[in-house]
Amino acid sequence: MTGKIEPLEPVGAAALRMYACGPTVYDYGHIGNFRTFLHVDVLRRFLRLQGVAVNHVMNITDVDDKIIRNATAADKPIKEYTERFERAFFEDLDALGIERPEHVPRATEHIPEMVTLIERLAAKDIAYKAEDGSWYFRIAKYPEYGKLSKKDFDGIEDGARVDVDEYEKDAARDFALWKAVKPGEPGWDTALGTGRPGWHIECSAMAGSLLGESFDLHAGGEDLMFPHHENEIAQSESATGKTFARHWMHVRFLLVEGKKMSKSEGNFYTLRDLLLKGHRASAIRYLLISVPYRHQMNFTFEALAAAANTIDRWRTFQQRMLRGGFAAEANASVRTATEKAAKEFTAALENDLNTAEAAAAISEMVRAANTSADAGTLGDENAAEILRVLTMFDEVFAVLVDRDQEMTAAALKWAEAEGRIGEASPEVVARMGLSDEEIEALVAERTQAKKTRNFARADGIRAELLAKGVIIEDSKDGVRWKRK
Ligand SMILES: [Zn+2]
Repeated sequence: MTGKIEPLEPVGAAALRMYACGPTVYDYGHIGNFRTFLHVDVLRRFLRLQGVAVNHVMNITDVDDKIIRNATAADKPIKEYTERFERAFFEDLDALGIERPEHVPRATEHIPEMVTLIERLAAKDIAYKAEDGSWYFRIAKYPEYGKLSKKDFDGIEDGARVDVDEYEKDAARDFALWKAVKPGEPGWDTALGTGRPGWHIECSAMAGSLLGESFDLHAGGEDLMFPHHENEIAQSESATGKTFARHWMHVRFLLVEGKKMSKSEGNFYTLRDLLLKGHRASAIRYLLISVPYRHQMNFTFEALAAAANTIDRWRTFQQRMLRGGFAAEANASVRTATEKAAKEFTAALENDLNTAEAAAAISEMVRAANTSADAGTLGDENAAEILRVLTMFDEVFAVLVDRDQEMTAAALKWAEAEGRIGEASPEVVARMGLSDEEIEALVAERTQAKKTRNFARADGIRAELLAKGVIIEDSKDGVRWKRK
């Protein structure tokens, strides 16, 4: 709200109370949506690491114009229509390692709170009923309108209305709080008449009822600042006379290969699209959080491949530290580097969640420790200290535990069930077609073939596995394999 970075501390409650606008469940989420949810996840994870308890609410918008239109077109009740996308949304959150908020209220389950809030506004003559039975918010009654987006709405035209969410960029209009049903549309019978809530009132009502009239932080994508968040502020502060949210956090948009993501550009990706093309869930998570939330990011496939390599390097490093067998004496300079990394990691995240600097601090530590381990100068104590820093890192970044195969397998299963397996790349289908046991058996056969000097067969197995995306590595510790 102030345009400045300010200390974020809970006020008047045991836990920090935060609200983040959730999805409208009418389709699968795209990577731009998930970038926002991922950065909110980084925030809540980092707060917990700092010992700050969080009470986090994220709404599910399960009724709106698009949902009604799509459900009608599909000839389904809205509940049946939205359930499928709501389930998919939670599966996608899990695939990306995004924690569930403490509360995930559905709009359709909080209609009475919305009605009450509109009635409070009506009692102050701020909400009014139009000829068609819909209720509107009278912007002229809220002089602070625009204070978040810093838009100057000179000469607000009293009574000019907008009943859909298609706002002109710089125009303030009385907006719909409650929409009267049109013939054939679903609605709720309430004191306001038969209808359904407008989108903005949902968030005001659910935030108010679950977090209180005034809370610590409100988050969302940058596109929500105006009109959605301005409208939430107008509704809530007009009704309560209190500051709605003490802090605001808006996650910037992403570009894909330098362009705005759009279906017509052919650069529009859902999480599922990427998994079916063989990209790993952990790499997608890491790439989307590696650029700090306040900066626009450019999503490229080159950067996605680099993210996968970085994660491989970290996981391999973590395994190396876990295997142990290092020197008895600790290396003082590695110890200093480890302590420095831990400090810089925390300081970077404390500074407006600078994820890029936080990750760079860890990379620096990995480099120093690998160099020392290669030279035989790393101590067992160093490894233990490094592992503690990696654990701290992963509390926030959550990329070291390898669940990638499981997530890709789930995406393939979904594609099969939906008749969309044709969208998966053939390499992914082939790779996932081999079970771990089948790979182990082939690896064992190859080892046996080498022992009997049947190199043709051994090479044949290696080539066969490689074609199916499985890489065999011979090392002095034995044979290891991994999926590409
Ligand atoms: Zn909202």
